[in-house]
Amino acid sequence: MAPLKALGGTSDILPGEVGAWQRLEVQARRILHLYRYQEIRTPLIEEAAVFTTSLGEAAEIVTKQMYLFEDRGGRSVALRPEGTASVVRAFVEHGLDKTASVSRFYYVGPMFRAERPQAGRRRQFHQLGVEVFASAGPYQDVEVLSLLHRLLEGWGLSAWVLKLNSLGCREDRKRIVERVRAKLAPHRTKLCEDCQARLEKNPLRILDCKEKGCVELSRGVDLLEAICPTCRQHFSQVTETLKALQIPFERDPHLVRGLDYYTRTAFEVVHGGLGAQNALGGGGRYDGLVEQMGGTAIPAIGFAVGLERVLMALEVDRPNEAPEPLSSVYVAAVSPAEIPSALSLAEEFRRSGVAAFVNLEERPLGRQLKQAAGMQAKYALILGQEEIKEGAVTVRDMNSGEQHRESRSAVVEKMKSQLRAESK
Ligand SMILES: [Zn+2]
Ligand SMILES: [Zn+2]
Repeated sequence: MAPLKALGGTSDILPGEVGAWQRLEVQARRILHLYRYQEIRTPLIEEAAVFTTSLGEAAEIVTKQMYLFEDRGGRSVALRPEGTASVVRAFVEHGLDKTASVSRFYYVGPMFRAERPQAGRRRQFHQLGVEVFASAGPYQDVEVLSLLHRLLEGWGLSAWVLKLNSLGCREDRKRIVERVRAKLAPHRTKLCEDCQARLEKNPLRILDCKEKGCVELSRGVDLLEAICPTCRQHFSQVTETLKALQIPFERDPHLVRGLDYYTRTAFEVVHGGLGAQNALGGGGRYDGLVEQMGGTAIPAIGFAVGLERVLMALEVDRPNEAPEPLSSVYVAAVSPAEIPSALSLAEEFRRSGVAAFVNLEERPLGRQLKQAAGMQAKYALILGQEEIKEGAVTVRDMNSGEQHRESRSAVVEKMKSQLRAESK
């Protein structure tokens, strides 16, 4: 039969590429731990209602992009298109909304959207996100934004911009929607086709449309002027504190985010090297969502970052990142008779925390050393008949080609401290 292939818009992450993913995750977990955020893992499939109640029936994610199907029991289920709804569902289901304390969560994992695959848009893609519950003040917004800043910085990105806006509270939102609609309605025919439809359903989305006519018409609309004094105060405390912490940002009066549930602070991170799909991630407050999903009325804020986009941006910002060596030491058996001794030596290295590769096939020593060089091993440890007889190992420095003998009983400890000294 013809070989099978992965579905369009999904990708295998092969061993040669996975190192970059692991570095992102390890780095992120370290930083998230410093901020005392805890991981939450939710299922990849949920009852479809989890997303329709949170994102809104009319949201484009739901109507155009969600993987929706009936399971064998006739239930309507969906592959998660984003992380927040599942986390809120879990939060309410386990009664965490009834505890008085602030909860700080993060998640990492795949999300699914049935859209036309293109650069920066996949059907299965990966996000890292955080959600903080039960903390309403502006300083919580600042903490979340500084965490986002540290993550991007920790990953080694440099050419990103944090854009910030306030969408106001729910009452403000109604007023803003009316105001934008009233301002744009007389010019309806100058709007693009999508935005003519948005004028009824969600006029705020017109503000972030990239079509020339729409950009032209929405110029001069500033959401900050339309929000209430309390929301304005909240926003200015956020921006003042960010300045005090030296976290750079840009005010973007047209930033609205795609989803209905956002309130007050909303933000996005864009990267200059990414082309049309230039957003690395974004988020904001969603003070009404927990209640909307059947929980108590508590505030919340979060963000999500697209990991494929981060990797693309890293290629722009740090194109010559050296791959990590596959192993530190390569153990070579001169003839098949020494393979068991080589295995035992490699095991001893691994137990003491040194990555070791051992060749298990019958290969001439020269070819093994070539392979060791290809794997960027720092040292090759050679075991032949003579070494076994003497209770020794030949150590070859792969950079200089120098060789010397070590006693078999002391070699692991010696190499370990040498490798540690070199990595400093
Ligand atoms: Zn308000
Ligand atoms: Zn438009």
